[in-house]
Order: sequence, then C-alpha cells, then structure tokens
Amino acid sequence: MGPVLGVTLKGIEAIAIDVEVEITGGLFAIAVVGLPDAAVKEARERVRAALRANGIHLRGRIALNLAPADLPKVGSLLDLPMAVGLAMETGAVSLTKPALFLGELAMDGRLRGTKGAVPAALLARKMGVPLYLPPENACEVSLVKGVNAFAVPDLGALLGHLAGECALPPVLGKGLDLDDPPADPDLCDIKGQAAAKRALEIAAAGHHNLLLVGSPGSGKTMLARALRGILPPLTDEERLETLLVRSTLGLRTRPDRTRPYRIVHHTASTIALCGGGSALKPGEISLAHRGVLFLDEFAEFHRDLLEALRQPLEDGTITVSRASGSVTYPARVLLVCACNPCPCGYWGDPVETCRCPAHVLEKYRNRLSGPILDRIDLHVSVPRLTPEELVCLEGQHGPSSEEIRRKVSLAREIQQERWKKEGFHSNAEIPERLVRTGIRLSRDVRPFMVKAARGMRLSGRGISRVLKVARTVADLRESPEVAVEDVCEALAYRKGGVTGDSA
Ligand SMILES: [Zn+2]
Repeated sequence: MGPVLGVTLKGIEAIAIDVEVEITGGLFAIAVVGLPDAAVKEARERVRAALRANGIHLRGRIALNLAPADLPKVGSLLDLPMAVGLAMETGAVSLTKPALFLGELAMDGRLRGTKGAVPAALLARKMGVPLYLPPENACEVSLVKGVNAFAVPDLGALLGHLAGECALPPVLGKGLDLDDPPADPDLCDIKGQAAAKRALEIAAAGHHNLLLVGSPGSGKTMLARALRGILPPLTDEERLETLLVRSTLGLRTRPDRTRPYRIVHHTASTIALCGGGSALKPGEISLAHRGVLFLDEFAEFHRDLLEALRQPLEDGTITVSRASGSVTYPARVLLVCACNPCPCGYWGDPVETCRCPAHVLEKYRNRLSGPILDRIDLHVSVPRLTPEELVCLEGQHGPSSEEIRRKVSLAREIQQERWKKEGFHSNAEIPERLVRTGIRLSRDVRPFMVKAARGMRLSGRGISRVLKVARTVADLRESPEVAVEDVCEALAYRKGGVTGDSA
C-alpha cells in the first residue's frame, strides 16, 4: 500500500483506497482507472485547476490508479488524495508515512465539506494513520476519540504542512459536549391526554412500539414528538452510531445528545424508508436509528412498505442489496404509528358523530391488522378534548418531560441489569421463552391472567405482550415483582382495545 490513501464508502463503512500516480512523457492527458464513477472522472478537472492555483502545472501523460480496482468508488471524496498523489509525483512534496486524505476541491484549491468523514475517521484510527479533512467536517470528527486528524482549509496549506513549512492545527478528539435543546413540546405543555402521556412513558421506558388512535386534531403528532423529550440522552457510543449514518449522507447537524426523530409519510418509497437505490443510501429507518420513527396516517401505508419494516424492527438492522453486493445499516428504532379511528375520523368522538357504514368500518379495521401491528405493544386512544376541557385546563398539565425522563432512565437501567446475561436491553426485546421464565409475577397474577385471557379472548402472543408491558409498568415503580395492578394497566393497551378488532 502506498502512502497516499483515500476512502470510498460501503454502507456506513469506509474502505481505504490506494491512490497511485504515474506520469510519463508525451502529450498531456489524464486517465483515471479503477472503476471510478462519473464524479471521480470530473475530479480530474478540479484537481488540475487546484494544483495550478498552487503553482503546480501538470504535463505529460498521467495515469491515476485507484486500487483495489474492483471496488466501486463514489462521489468527490477522492479529490484531495488525487491532488496529493499528483503533487508528490511532480516532486512538490514528499510523504514517507501513509496518511488518509478526504475532501472535494474547489478550482482555487479550497476544500469543501464532504460525506463520509466519520467513517473515514474510524478507519484512520483503526489503521493508525493521520487523517486530513475539510474544516466543515472537523466538528463531527472531533467526537471520534483518539483520532489523529487535521482540518485543511485549502490545498496550499496542506502542501505547506506536508513540506514541513507550516503546521496545520490538529482536530482534537475530545468529544464535544453541547447542551441539549429543551424538550419540544414539553409534556407539561400538552393539555389533558393523561392516558396517552402515560403510554408514552411506558413506551420510552420499555422500548415498546406505540400506536396512537384518535380523531383529526386530537394532538397525535404533538404527542409523538413529545416522546423524544422523555427518552434518555444518547450515550457516547449511540451518538457516534447516529452520526455515522448521517455522515454517510453528508448531513451535518448539531452533534448533541438528542435522539433522532423522523417522520415518514405514506407516500414515501420503499427506498426512502429502508434505503438502497443506485447510489445506495441509508433510509429514514436508519436515520431514526436510536431514536423515534413516526408513521403518520398509518392506515394509508401500503402493505409492501410495512412488510419491508418487519425484519428491521425485529433485528435492529436493515440489509439492502444491489447488483454489486449488499450493505447493512443500523435500524434500531422506537416505532410510533398514528391513525384515525375510522375513515371519517370521528368514531368514538365525544362531540362529532361517526358517519361510517359498518362495512366501511370493518374494511378499515382489517387494513389496520397485519404484521406490523403485531409488533406494536401499546395501542392507545387519543380522544379530542371537549370544549369544556379545552377551556378549563390552564397552566401546567402534569409532570414535565424532564421528570418523566428521569423515571424512564431509571426503569431502563433496571431492565438492562435484569436482561444483561441474555444480551437484551429492554422488556420489549425479550423472546417468548424469557417472558415465561424471566418475569417474576406475584402469586395472584396467574389466576387473574387466566380469567382475563378467557374474557378478552387473548391469544398466546397477546398474553406475552401484556406481560412484557406489565413488566415495564412494574419497573417504572421499581418493583421486582409484577402485580395484578400492573397487568390491569397493561391490558388497557392491548391490541384491539382501541381499534375494536380482536387481540
Ligand atoms: Zn367514522
């Protein structure tokens, strides 16, 4: 491997590319070999201009080889290593130890921000080589601890640095600590909806997927958004994971510890939701990794789109394939779905009357069933507030997001401790086997469950869902044992409780 290295991306992973240059006599020409895409070919012009701006004039026949040849190279990530390789070959600089270079060049030699900086930083750290990158990417890379990186404002500064004339300032891998923005909206600013807020708390604590059913204007979207504010802040490792996905797309956002929140509309394509496409990008489910994925107007989603969500919800990862192979993206999300109770929207409304004929109502409910609904532990009704409630509820409404967040964090710690040996993090994740053996029930729970299962016609899967939720309810009150009252509360969130179909 030569000293001049660039990167290409495969999923969220950066792969080292060896940039080799050969200049021979003859008429001027630049050829780039090694499966470059169109953007890499265009790089020839940018690189040549940037070098010229720094007094390096290319002459003769130039061959640039990007190795390994069988690996696809994408985008403008390779401008900088190509320029450094050419500068070396002309004798303008010398480089004895390998280094990674990343960045797109402007004609005048300035460096533009690029995608892939975080994967590149992880690769540089693993290889133990320095990384030179655009200043725009310095912030995100500073979160990668132990990386030896330098922010390069322009090609001239880099050539000066490599020649030992002037040193570039290092990017300190110290792990930025920014203040997290306040919860928006804060739970205590949302009027009424005590039951739905409680369901949010349980969802956040046990990582239970959630379905909100309510008429238009009942505040489902606001409640879904409030969920983010009661989730514990991202850990260092989780923050890096989310940053990695965003960096792959070149999205540079404030690297605080707020969890991602992504809304998907029912008109979204499978590629937009799950990732893939010719450029192979991560989808919304990966951008929501470690955070909340919100599907509004859930009943309108096409079956195929929901079917595509099934596996990632189970595995926490999503694999997308294309001709040249497949890549896997992280996809551990808390799913929140929202829908109307019926096509007209007013079934069960305290004021308006539902005008849906029985057969329309039944068709709608059938559409709501299916594989995804089976993975949603909490089904919650979000009624519209009555005019009386809207008028008389003033001031603060229940505990703040910060108070709930503390409870949620504690309940999560209890679960992590309990399932540590089995390798699970939350009650929602545990398999059937552990539901039966790992959940401690108080003595009167079993006979109570039998009666409930009979009366409510719960299926085997329905029962285990109720027990998992009851375990989270008990964790929220820090009880080692699940009591009948916990089960009672869990039964209120069972599937079919708000949509009317059977569990
Ligand atoms: Zn209706």
